[in-house]
Amino acid sequence: MYLLPLGGANEIGANSYYLNIAGTGLVLDCGMHPQKKGLEALPRFELINDLPVDFVLITHAHQDHLSALPYLVKLHPHIKIITTPQTRALAELTLHNSVSILCEQIKNEEMKVYSHEEIDLLIKTIDYRNYANTFEISGYNHQSIEPIKITFYDAGHILGSASFLIEHSGKTIFYTGDINTDDQTIQTGCSLPKVKSDVLIIESTYGATESGNLLNREKEAERLAASINKIFNNGGSVLIPVFALGKMQEILGTLWHLIVKGKLTQTDIYIGGIGEKINRVYDYNRYVVRRADSEFKLLDLPVKNLYRVNNPDDFFKHPRIVLASSGMVIEGTASYKLAKHWLMRKDSGIFTVGYMERSTPGYILSNAARGDKIKLTLFMEPVEVKCCIKKFRFTAHAKREGLLEIVEKTNPQKVVIVHGDTNAINWLGAAILKKDKTKTVYAAEPGKKIILF
Ligand SMILES: [Zn+2]
Repeated sequence: MYLLPLGGANEIGANSYYLNIAGTGLVLDCGMHPQKKGLEALPRFELINDLPVDFVLITHAHQDHLSALPYLVKLHPHIKIITTPQTRALAELTLHNSVSILCEQIKNEEMKVYSHEEIDLLIKTIDYRNYANTFEISGYNHQSIEPIKITFYDAGHILGSASFLIEHSGKTIFYTGDINTDDQTIQTGCSLPKVKSDVLIIESTYGATESGNLLNREKEAERLAASINKIFNNGGSVLIPVFALGKMQEILGTLWHLIVKGKLTQTDIYIGGIGEKINRVYDYNRYVVRRADSEFKLLDLPVKNLYRVNNPDDFFKHPRIVLASSGMVIEGTASYKLAKHWLMRKDSGIFTVGYMERSTPGYILSNAARGDKIKLTLFMEPVEVKCCIKKFRFTAHAKREGLLEIVEKTNPQKVVIVHGDTNAINWLGAAILKKDKTKTVYAAEPGKKIILF
């Protein structure tokens, strides 16, 4: 039994991990790097060219865990895809959405960009399993009489997100995917297996972040409301960069609760195109998955489509809230384009609400203050920040304590740390060993095989 990271191991990028169990090849997640372009953004699939590849299991529908799937299917057409029904529904939206973006980026004949028709076919082939239902699989070259048992656990990250419990020959592996131990506004925290795991493969996004900076969610919501009200009183508008999947729904829910409680002035909220479709999937599933409040419906909220506004100046005629993707304000996206208009407005504010990777325009923006001269990208002319900029934290990932709680509850002998920058991985590794020196901790690296048993 061994693990071969293909990408995303020591950064938040193209998450994909190859797991070989008795000759059966499982690919765990299949993401694209959000900031890299073209083939550069893919996991290193060449590492598994000559290995058995039978199944790909997807934890959730975020780009960095899902979007390379059409490429993997082209390389291994017989591969079986399995995920939760919610991730399948969301994958249909996010994969179609990425087709047009990729068409612009990839001109390489060797690995042609896939079409909308191909995505339709791919979605049809996705098999889905509900949480807590154990199912059995075995690949073409499986060299054991025992099949591999898989159980999905709700990871509490976004709708449909799952962690995987993988069992074979008395050995257990738990792969967290992106996981959150705490409740969010819509999503409730993760559920964990009751059995001990021999190996834990754990994400580490917030390993480098002091938990004091990830404040109590309710207090943070009130701070957000007070800051928005202040901008409204100046006659300005607020731009909040968000991921269309997950963060947009959570922030919409948070804003709506604040309005209902009378803590936030009611106003028009603008959201981007795909966000509306994702809201629908969230609503359809509200009785099917665990929810903080199953009666809450995103479609009841008075939101408007930001793409119907032709002139950005219209956003400033009356106080408005605009939720635009991408969350990390990647060049060329709606939030990037709108941020340039916002930066010039003294009366308005840009409020960031999530994790920003260091190399992104969002990181530069969220750490700027009024009066600073900033360059969002290398080739941009420096601009003076005239608007108000504030940082808020509404995390969809486990805090440090949450990560350690997962280690404690699953009680593994071996821990493989993935999905974090070097500081995050180092902190988590050291913290695990401080509690128990007998554990073996690995920092995953793409292309570096880890023998598990
Ligand atoms: Zn995610």
